[in-house]
Amino acid sequence: MEKAQVYFSDFRTKAFGDSMPTKLKKLIKAAGIGEIDLDGKFAAIKLHFGELGNISYLRPNYARAVVDVVKEFGGKPFLTDCNTLYPGSRKNALEHLECAWENGFTALTAGCPILIGDGLKGTDDVEVPVPGGEYIDKALIGRAIMDADVFISLTHFKGHEMTGFGGTIKNIGMGCGSRAGKMHQHNNGQATIHEDRCRGCRICQRECANDALVFDAASRKMHVDLGKCVGCGRCLGSCNFDAIEFVNGNAVEILNYRMAEYTKAVVTGRPQFHISLVVDVSPNCDCHGENDAPILPNIGMFASFDPLALDQACADACLAATPLPNSQLSDNLLKPQFIDHHDHFVNSTPESEWRSCLSHAEKIGLGTREYDLIRV
Ligand code: SF4
Ligand code: SF4
Repeated sequence: MEKAQVYFSDFRTKAFGDSMPTKLKKLIKAAGIGEIDLDGKFAAIKLHFGELGNISYLRPNYARAVVDVVKEFGGKPFLTDCNTLYPGSRKNALEHLECAWENGFTALTAGCPILIGDGLKGTDDVEVPVPGGEYIDKALIGRAIMDADVFISLTHFKGHEMTGFGGTIKNIGMGCGSRAGKMHQHNNGQATIHEDRCRGCRICQRECANDALVFDAASRKMHVDLGKCVGCGRCLGSCNFDAIEFVNGNAVEILNYRMAEYTKAVVTGRPQFHISLVVDVSPNCDCHGENDAPILPNIGMFASFDPLALDQACADACLAATPLPNSQLSDNLLKPQFIDHHDHFVNSTPESEWRSCLSHAEKIGLGTREYDLIRV
């Protein structure tokens, strides 16, 4: 496969010069978004509206910049995401829309409608075959997303408690899955509690939508009801004492494989374009109702027709950056006997793993990890 082209702009601006949204518009035009036949076409712009309480998600101004460009080329854009598996503010379309509005995404600010891809209760999905899939036969993708003529992803690139980083493949693969689709990807392991580390704080219980975390008042330890645990992984990032782990040793790898295959299902057979902003690189996903201090500096905006090359380019840029002090990453590096993995994502969350996602994505033909970086 030929090298992909990944376009890049940093976040520097000059006084009275281009604004950040203007830089983003210039970047995506330089990267060739106008080569897509957008005229009269429905264009799904997949992004994450941020969980309520989280403020590291991408600002609506960036979405507006993409919407404006799509409209300039005659497209009919809409912003979209699918409902979540876990309790929180985005588990059905009504709450999801209210969350989006509260976080600043409205028809006025975005310049286009917002559609929740898998409908009111997260059940409006389509079975989509996965060309070359090894783990997924048919992916369950939000119907509105599959109905769109053109697919555009707009990703906040940041850390992730399971997959090392949340980038373009995660935004597409996991994000476009309906609730059943998300379950389909996650269901490959179960949580286990290390009683010696559990302090009985019960914080993890707030994260479990399945009542699978049971507190034993006598021992003051948490337990997992394996009959109820669906392996969604939501509780993993909630424990400040590293007391929760997955039983299945390769659960994260399998999750990564499935995510890559879901991404292939979403993008195959129609025009696609991808944008990823490495900014406010919090250690955990924007699905959290909080965001810890960034682990890495703001690096820039990336755009490409190749979702895999885009993730690789963003990851490479992050790995070359210097960790920020007073962050989860720098705190870990200062711990006595901490094993340095020479990988900022794994050093930030040692249980996480991301390379298997990119290698599997390449294996199934999602794109290439080889790219030329073109500065705009
Ligand atoms: S968050 Fe961790 S320490 Fe607190 S109850 Fe859950 S497993 Fe135990
Ligand atoms: S992994 Fe299991 S225990 Fe943890 S939040 Fe998901 S369903 Fe609940």
